[in-house]
Amino acid sequence: MKSLNKKMALIATGVALLAVLLIFCGMQLLSMPDPKGIPILEYHMVQAVDPDRAYEYNVPPDEFEAQLDYLEQEGYTTISIRDFLRAKKGLQDLPDKPVILTFDDGYKTNYTELLPILEKRGLKATIFVVVNDIGKERYMSWDQLRDIQHRGVEIGSHTANHLPLGKMDKTQARDEMRLSKLLMEWNGMDTIYTLSYPNGSYSNELVAMLKEEEYLAAVTGDSGLNDFDTDPYLLHRINIPHPMFGITEFKWRLMKGKLMTRLGIFQHKS
Ligand SMILES: [Zn+2]
Repeated sequence: MKSLNKKMALIATGVALLAVLLIFCGMQLLSMPDPKGIPILEYHMVQAVDPDRAYEYNVPPDEFEAQLDYLEQEGYTTISIRDFLRAKKGLQDLPDKPVILTFDDGYKTNYTELLPILEKRGLKATIFVVVNDIGKERYMSWDQLRDIQHRGVEIGSHTANHLPLGKMDKTQARDEMRLSKLLMEWNGMDTIYTLSYPNGSYSNELVAMLKEEEYLAAVTGDSGLNDFDTDPYLLHRINIPHPMFGITEFKWRLMKGKLMTRLGIFQHKS
């Protein structure tokens, strides 16, 4: 009985020491200056009424505006992926704290509800469109797409059919990349040079293929920040789903992205 008590005491001391160590390490990490790098935020839709399906992908406008207010308070300025790529080549300067806003899938409310917010605040953004969904009930039409691009929103490809590229044969994957780009360009849109991998599915082979198909950059769903050493075909993004805990959750998600970069976990270097 006595030795059992002794064992329990030892375990308790061990656990307490471990907890102190973890708190110490956590505080050290939090007190360090922010790691350098550009956050790319991954959104889907911003609309007042949550959709029946994919509710978790909607950030209601009031929550979205609170997030934008916070970014502004923190000194962030929005840039496009094109700005980032041009700055990498030394062709333009970037603001002190750039941030990139991206929206996947090409929902109709990107045009009706998101665009007015962006224009009101003078913000840049990038939308990745699934080409075979253009004009369907929940998605933007060709006219809306051409108009939104004309008004300064950067448009990229989210492939033709939104299937995971890593799970199909190579010819089909190449078609998804090539045809989505060509169809948009044939339909009167400016050059398409960025891609968002459906379901975050990528591989080294796909990266090589994107270069051959004249894409300049692609975004993943892997968390982290981006700098000029990040592989431009495997850019990290910080996912922003429907918030359950308001702005606190948004801050935590940003912090997680910074932490992944600081610790070098799953970070893609070129
Ligand atoms: Zn998607």
